[in-house]
Parts: sequence; structure tokens; C-alpha cells
Amino acid sequence: MLEKVLIANRGEIALRVLRACHALGIRTVAVHSTVDRNLKHVGMADESICIGPGPAAESYLNVPALIAAAEVTDAQAIHPGYGFLSENADFAERVEQSGFIFIGPTAGVIRLMGDKVEAIRAMKAAGVPCVPGSGGPLGEDTAENLRIAREIGYPVIIKAAGGGGGRGMRVVFTEAHLGNAIAMTKTEARAAFGNDQVYMEKFLENPRHVEIQVLADGQGSAIHLGERDCSMQRRHQKVVEEAPAPGITAEQRAEIGKVCVDACLRIGYRGAGTFEFLYENGRFYFIEMNTRIQVEHPVTEMITGIDLVREQLLIAAGHRLSIRQEDVRFTGHAIECRINAEDPDTFMPSPGTVKTFEAPGGPGIRVDTHIYDGYRIPPNYDSMIGKLIAHGVDRDTAIARMRIALSELVVDGIKTNVPLQQRIMADGGFRAGGQNIHYLEKRIAESKEKAIGLG
Ligand code: ADP
Repeated sequence: MLEKVLIANRGEIALRVLRACHALGIRTVAVHSTVDRNLKHVGMADESICIGPGPAAESYLNVPALIAAAEVTDAQAIHPGYGFLSENADFAERVEQSGFIFIGPTAGVIRLMGDKVEAIRAMKAAGVPCVPGSGGPLGEDTAENLRIAREIGYPVIIKAAGGGGGRGMRVVFTEAHLGNAIAMTKTEARAAFGNDQVYMEKFLENPRHVEIQVLADGQGSAIHLGERDCSMQRRHQKVVEEAPAPGITAEQRAEIGKVCVDACLRIGYRGAGTFEFLYENGRFYFIEMNTRIQVEHPVTEMITGIDLVREQLLIAAGHRLSIRQEDVRFTGHAIECRINAEDPDTFMPSPGTVKTFEAPGGPGIRVDTHIYDGYRIPPNYDSMIGKLIAHGVDRDTAIARMRIALSELVVDGIKTNVPLQQRIMADGGFRAGGQNIHYLEKRIAESKEKAIGLG
């Protein structure tokens, strides 16, 4: 087993990783910025070390500081969590070159999946169904780009090869706007991702977001743990996630799951990973692979009973996968609500001090959060302050439990999106299940119109 793991992250995921380490008897090193000394996991870790000032670029994204922290604490492995450096191939490479284990896939695989153009090429070759598209980066030839778009059929979406976090995308509905949209997305992509390659895909108008969780040991074994539906999004950011996805049959799950498992084996995947698909008219279209643990991993854990972070640690320690595909059982339904420190109407971040925090409880309720009474949320990072997960024998039970949990949850002193989550859980369309990725924004816009008397 690993002896000591450095957790190169903050917030709820750092705490989640720490808990998984301690459950396996692994000692932990917490790293933190100067504004994060009061993080819950910092006080629980066996050792902690300050890696720089508040701005993430100088701390959680500071590769030399992280490597130095691993060296001085004699850590054996580094867990990157999600966000920050978790999908940075150069970081994974530096970690390994410095003699530490990177808890994730090889740098080569991260690099391949980080370039969406290359990732789509590799996935197509592995037999994974992809969105009809340019099949490669767009060049400067306007006539050729117009031809590609015409062949795909409008609307199309221009996407940055190096994009992420829902940024670097632009939808084009008519030929007249194509050239400009390509130029603008290129400029943005160069500034945001340091890579101005863009590609074109058919813009699916009413898809759902359905993704497949995989685990692979990099030694010839891989399994899938079913799917999650993450269609409740705002500005391409997930707000509510659930597993299983409403309406997906066991046959569909087994079929697309096998496609992903085969792709993992083909690219030599190692660790936990997610194949993201758009799902429309009964068909899956691959959009990208996330080569890390995801925010929404708990819903899969709740319906499978498998601890994904524990599995990541075991795989990193060189263990073969101990779970066989036929051992994976799906029980009931799980829903996750992301809890953000933000105004529920304007979505403006609302950092500040949490005066009172009271966690909900009861059967099937899980709370993943690092906040506590008196915790000061710094303004420097993502506004997510935790996740509420509800499990039940079926979807209705999970929703009912979530509604009670949301009503029990107390976060005083700051604004949170809990009122929005309550409205979603009470919404008829959500309760029916299977809504597409535009549904939430449409509902938010409708209720805003009503609020100012237009509805
Ligand atoms: P990122 O890495 O920034 O998350 P993705 O490729 O995963 O980018 O896309 C994020 C979101 O953008 C998707 O969940 C979906 O809402 C939307 N999207 C991406 N590609 C398409 C497409 N071809 N058609 C329709 N929507 C898309």
C-alpha cells in the first residue's frame, strides 16, 4: 500500500481524498495557500504545508511548490483531485520524473485526452460513437470551412481543442456567421488555453448529458460503473447530477459501457475516468474524456457501493482491479445537488463567513463538504462549498429525501443556491426525468420573466 499521499487540492475534494487515504491507513500531506489555513482537511492531515499565496496560479497551480512540498514531506504519491492540475499532462510528467506516483493515468494519456481533436480521433479509432464533425482542426481556408459546415449541417458548434470548463465554444446557426465565429473562438482559445486550434461539430439541439464512469488498472483490466445524467446545467456547468440516467435500459448501459471499457484497454488507460456523451434520440455521441475523479462521482458510489477514490489509491499502489464487471450491481437511485456560495437569483459569488452550518441527515443522505461554523470562504476559488447526495430505492424516493435534506440544511451568513436546488427538486419537468441540457436555463429564464411580471 502507499504510505503517504500529498493531496494537491483544496475544499471538499481534498477532504474526500483524505478520508479515503486514512481509511486505508495511508498518511496524508495537506497543501494549502495562505488564505486556506483554515480548511477542514488541513487540520485533519498528518502534515500540512503552505505552498503560496491566495491566487491559484501561485499556489494550487504552482508546480515547483507542489513538487518541493512532496519532497520535504517525503510523500510517495500525489492525488490531484479535480480542477487545478488534475488534467495537466506536464504536471503528471513532472510528478513522475521527480520520483513520485501520480494518482491518475500516464502523462501520455492525459495529453491525448486533453487535446479534444486528438481524443476524438483516438475514440473514433476505438469504435466509440462521436458527434459528426470536422474530424480534425479547422484551417484558414474559408471556403473549405464553409464546405465542412454545409456537409455537417447547421447549426454547428466551434470548439477549442484545448478547451475545458464549458469555455471556448460558439454555436453557429447560419453560414454568414461562420467565419467570424471561427476567428473569435480561435482568439479566445489562444488567450485562455494557449492553443488556438479549433474544430467543428454538429450542434445537437436537444441532447442530454450522459457519462460513463470507468475504472482501469493499466494492467489489462477495466470495468464500467454505469452512467450518470448531468443534464441539469447552467452555462455548461453541472448543477444536479444523478445515477442511473432516467430511461437508459440495462442493455444500453451494457453496450455503451463495453465500448468505453474496450477504449480504455486500447489506449492503456489507468485509474478512474469518465467518458462524456451527449445523448439524443436514443444514441450516444462522445464529446470528451475526463481523466480524473469528477465532482459527481458520489452518485455512482451510492448506487454501486464502490468507493472510487479508494480504487484510485489501490490502482496507484499497483494493485490489479479486484472488482469484476459481473460483480458490479446497481442499487436504487442517487441524486447530487451542488451547493454553491452564490446568489440563487443572480448567480453572483457570495464569499464570506459561514456563521452557522447544520448538515442534514437520515437514511440515504451523504454530505460532502469542508465548511463548518465560522469557516471563512475565500473569494479566490470556485464557489462550490459542498455537495448533498441522496440515495433511495427509486428516483422518487431519492428526490423526496433530497427535498427534506435541502430543507434541513442550514448555511447562515452567506448566500447559497439552496433555494434554486429546492425549486429544481420541486419542478414538474425535473421530476418527470430525462430533460435535456437546455431545460434548466429555460426554466430559470421563464421564472425570471414571471418575477418581473412578463410571464
Ligand atoms: P468542456 O470540456 O468545456 O466541459 P465539453 O466538450 O464537455 O466541454 O462540452 C461541455 C458542454 O457543452 C456539454 O455538456 C454540452 O452542454 C455543450 N456541448 C458541447 N458540444 C456540443 C454539441 N456538439 N452539441 C450541443 N451541445 C454541445
